[in-house]
Amino acid sequence: MADHLSDARALVGKLIGDQADGWDLTGALPMPLLRELSSRGLLCAQVPVEYDGLGFSSLENGELTAYTGSLCSSVRSVQTSHGMSAWTIGRLGDKAQRRAYLPTLAMGGLAAICFSEPDAGSDLSGIGTVIVPDGDEVVVTGRKTWITAAAYADLLLVVGRFGDGAGVVVVPRDAPGVRVEPVAHPAGCRAAGHSEVRLDAVRLPADAVLGGGGQNLSMVITTALTYGRMSVAWGCVGILRACLREATAHAASRTQFGKPLHEHQLVAKRLAEIFVGEQVSTLSCAHASRSWDSGDPELAMAAVFAKHVSSTNAAQAAASAMQVLASRAAHGGTVIERAYRDAKLMEIIEGTSEICQLLLAEQAIAAGGGTDV
Ligand SMILES: Cc1cc2nc3c(=O)[nH]c(=O)nc-3n(C[C@H](O)[C@H](O)[C@H](O)COP(=O)(O)OP(=O)(O)OC[C@H]3O[C@@H](n4cnc5c(N)ncnc54)[C@H](O)[C@@H]3O)c2cc1C
Repeated sequence: MADHLSDARALVGKLIGDQADGWDLTGALPMPLLRELSSRGLLCAQVPVEYDGLGFSSLENGELTAYTGSLCSSVRSVQTSHGMSAWTIGRLGDKAQRRAYLPTLAMGGLAAICFSEPDAGSDLSGIGTVIVPDGDEVVVTGRKTWITAAAYADLLLVVGRFGDGAGVVVVPRDAPGVRVEPVAHPAGCRAAGHSEVRLDAVRLPADAVLGGGGQNLSMVITTALTYGRMSVAWGCVGILRACLREATAHAASRTQFGKPLHEHQLVAKRLAEIFVGEQVSTLSCAHASRSWDSGDPELAMAAVFAKHVSSTNAAQAAASAMQVLASRAAHGGTVIERAYRDAKLMEIIEGTSEICQLLLAEQAIAAGGGTDV
């Protein structure tokens, strides 16, 4: 492992430690923790060195994300949202915007990205938020829902309609007309700061719109979601590793019917399934990251594949680990009970399992049966 990745992992491990269950129970992450992670560049480690980032490859960032996810899916969710924001600025912003925002995000600032609306979930073509030019300014009006990390963010990247196309506008959270209200009692990733965001005629300078606006909506969505899918997929590898660690340790130490649990074949089958899920998911994520790092045009589909494989495996593994630990995982404040709730939500975000399957089926048909995702 490269030194800078080992150092980053060590720091993440030290800052998170064994505190995830406590944060999950209170539903909040400490701001000093998030500021420290951000100021060390660890929430968007792929930001290039020229913008004061760590300049990690996708593969290195993926392994860092998996490690974060193995410790705390709420912190990993913030890492995903913040990293996706930085990636979107890097791709859609002009040089002045990259200079203005990326060093801030790599050195202590916090950002979240807002696509979803009450009437536009899987089908983002229904987005109703509008970004309307008005002289040297734009006016942003709309409502966003379930925005990860918005409760902690200084900057909100808001996707809306702009003329005949789309735009992404960078909205300071404290701008007049912005309201951020936490989602009550989320089922999982409880400390990730999920929030509703209301934008009531928010007036901003026109240069807050990335690249001037007017881009194609599906290009904007694919750009941002490809990073998001990679990050969620690697985060699910982290959940799988936590499940494997906890389930094997318990099955080796607990004895019933005169022998350790892992010597009962039905329990051994579950351990084998979790292990296979972790291995297959790691391979699919590594494949997608290598596609990213080599500039392979098949990247977008490799990211969908990795996200679908890893989130499905993580949800199944968490349910299996719960069964192996039984009463030991049947209450709040345990790694596996948390993984069980967190993993299920990963089948919903960055394209639900059904939306991923539709995209993969299209790919299979286009490839005439012989596909190389
Ligand atoms: C924990 C969490 C974090 C999130 N973070 C963010 C964030 O940071 N930013 C953001 O913008 N959004 C975020 N979201 C919102 C998320 O992107 C949406 O929840 C997701 O896109 C699904 O939309 P929906 O919930 O409205 O479900 P719907 O779109 O209403 O779908 C409901 C069900 O119908 C299925 N379905 C829909 N269309 C089809 C179809 N054509 N064929 C087959 N099945 C279909 C879906 O798969 C799903 O099972 C988050 C959500 C959660 C739960």
